Amino acid sequence: MVIVKKYGGTSVETPEKILKIAEKIALSKDEGNDVVVVVSAMGKTTNYLIDLLHKVNDEPSPREYDMIVSTGEQISIALLASALSKLGKKAISLTGFQAGIDTDSTHSRAKLKRVYRGTLRSILDEGKIPVVAGFQGISPSGEITTLGRGGSDTTAVAIAYALDADVCEIFTDVDGVYAADPRYVESPKHIDRISYDEMIEMAAHGAKVLHLRAVELARRYKVPLVVKHAHENGTGTKIEGMNDMEEPVVRALTVDENIVKIVVEGVPDEPGIAAKIFEKLASRHLALDMIVQSMHKEKKNDVAFTVANDDFSEAIQAIKEVKDEVKAENVHFDEEIAKVSIVGVNILGSSEIIHAMFSSIADVGANIDMISSSNSRISCLVPKNKIKEVAKSIARSFNLATNGYVNDD
Ligand code: ADP
Ligand code: ASP
Ligand code: MG
Repeated sequence: MVIVKKYGGTSVETPEKILKIAEKIALSKDEGNDVVVVVSAMGKTTNYLIDLLHKVNDEPSPREYDMIVSTGEQISIALLASALSKLGKKAISLTGFQAGIDTDSTHSRAKLKRVYRGTLRSILDEGKIPVVAGFQGISPSGEITTLGRGGSDTTAVAIAYALDADVCEIFTDVDGVYAADPRYVESPKHIDRISYDEMIEMAAHGAKVLHLRAVELARRYKVPLVVKHAHENGTGTKIEGMNDMEEPVVRALTVDENIVKIVVEGVPDEPGIAAKIFEKLASRHLALDMIVQSMHKEKKNDVAFTVANDDFSEAIQAIKEVKDEVKAENVHFDEEIAKVSIVGVNILGSSEIIHAMFSSIADVGANIDMISSSNSRISCLVPKNKIKEVAKSIARSFNLATNGYVNDD
């Protein structure tokens, strides 16, 4: 079998953990598999590097950002390849460039263009284990790029696709995907199997257990994807093709606190205004989420949307540039908000589910600021200081914790 194994930051946070992982990888190699390993930076290294950069410049260029953050993964690959050598395995560390990972030139959130399979294939054919730096690639002009926070998952899936791997295993600090982030809901139910589509909704709305683009790529190219605990034995979660359920069912809730709401107030109610506002944001390749337009009296509208924290400074800059052109009366933003979503099959088709979602938020006295939905998701913006209570209340309504029990602490 060809297996791609990706280890996240917490799984490689100490030399001891790296040695343990090396033993598991060696075992898989001994079983006769072709193994490619992808690793993230150790523990919180990436955060540390970003803080370090901001100590010398609070508005660093995206090029220098990529230059520094990409070093985190380089530490991990050298350590893991050396740990494997110590166990008598032939291993070789590779940067994104060396592994043939081509991206576009959008620093800090580069898109993969292709993965050159030749280098990795010939290393495997020599009986070696390639240990590839996740999260990084190389632009057409030879610049180091990174794929956005959490992007090592995407590196792993792209390599699995390029090598036509039998499975891409994502090892992390939890035994797979749960019905809620364990940091918000105590003892959430374990999900054994989940469809690519549901997982995409979860990843897009806060479940950082998998990088959104990794799941999108896996769905597009039908890469078999599994999430497992790096150091404990468990069943893990399989992410696979179709969902065979038709009945509306809520499978999970997600929380996203890393968002900011931006409101462009008092723009004229006339054709082309929204297009102008969003043109500026599009030219910066910013990912937007909830978008709401509400009408005032006197033919004025407010246009509000949310962006990820990481994109906030660019988004607000873009809005300031267009403020006069769209004759906005004011622009303001709100960081004290969080998004809670329920994800499942056909949920928008069930008015009972919609009602239960809003009731469970009302039950804890939280005000809903914005609502958005798709066939398989309902999201609400609520005050950040209420998010834990809200998550627990929703988990209780939809029976997302084991034994239906949710602690109220
Ligand atoms: P890694 O460093 O291995 O990439 P991440 O921190 O990116 O790990 O992702 C794992 C974390 O994702 C878990 O520790 C958990 O807190 C969080 N998470 C959020 N939602 C979920 C979910 N639905 N199921 C499992 N984990 C989740
Ligand atoms: N080290 C990077 C990050 O912290 C990439 C990753 O972990 O996937 O975002
Ligand atoms: Mg991750």
